[in-house]
Amino acid sequence: MTPRPVIDLHTHSTASDGTLSPAELVRAAVEAGLDVVAITDHDTTAGWDAAVAALPPGLTLVRGAEISCRWHGVEPAVPLHLLAYLFDPDHPDLVAELARVRAAREVRGERIVRLLNADGIDISWPEIISAAGGGTVGRPHIAAAMIRAGLVATTTEAFGPDWLGERYRLPKEDIDVFRAVALVRAAGGVPVFAHPRATRRGRIVPDELIVELAAAGLAGLEADHEDHSPAEAAHVRALAVELGLLVTGSSDFHGTHKTVRLGAHTTAPEAYERIVAAGVTPVASG
Ligand code: AMP
Ligand code: MN
Ligand code: MN
Ligand code: MN
Repeated sequence: MTPRPVIDLHTHSTASDGTLSPAELVRAAVEAGLDVVAITDHDTTAGWDAAVAALPPGLTLVRGAEISCRWHGVEPAVPLHLLAYLFDPDHPDLVAELARVRAAREVRGERIVRLLNADGIDISWPEIISAAGGGTVGRPHIAAAMIRAGLVATTTEAFGPDWLGERYRLPKEDIDVFRAVALVRAAGGVPVFAHPRATRRGRIVPDELIVELAAAGLAGLEADHEDHSPAEAAHVRALAVELGLLVTGSSDFHGTHKTVRLGAHTTAPEAYERIVAAGVTPVASG
């Protein structure tokens, strides 16, 4: 009997807020014993080509992204993340929306730094942008600057309520979640709701929204994730069964910006096969 492949469908590189380059990420995936890895940087496909070029033999790459979305059904709107797999990276409307969100992230990041500066905290936005190296900028990059300045010891501390988690937290201009699901489908991709019950991250959306999203084209739910308790993961799994959605499990690896390891959670081959069958961009094999 051949062993079941080890599949991790949610990781970040330096194309967003991970700390390994796309090439280092695929090499680390092999070292971690993965057979399939997805690259899912925030709001960008910029890491795809470098990951494909560096693919080690035996590793399969799923090209994806994690899209910053917002649900406007309540006030204030709730931010949420949509994983998108195997879509056409040149679909004009999706390309335009992702570029708009990346630009909005820069405006918001600079405003956060200005708020910190106004309170006498000496970190530099140009330095943060430069350290991000062209990747999608996020709060983890500001957290890294705070660590370099000796203000906090860890990223987790930087996301505490006195810092980026609340006091210096500003919203960004995300994509309406229904528009994002429609765009991903229009681009031939497979939309999966990332960590939908992660209460420890902040507010979550009601199950009724997930029912509506399923009717609007959502393909799956991420159940196994470090930000879900076992009860939350079980709830997501049951909801997926009820709605006929596929279920994934993933590490959401970020290199040293987080403590989670590659392969910490994995996806069943049956769910992976459904994603591959539904996506317009083929998986790449090394
Ligand atoms: P942003 O995309 O700028 O809103 O920042 C959110 C990102 O910060 C997420 O994608 C995670 O990578 C990271 N993050 C969120 N919450 C935490 C936390 N409590 N500790 C460490 N990293 C976090
Ligand atoms: Mn992140
Ligand atoms: Mn996320
Ligand atoms: Mn993520």
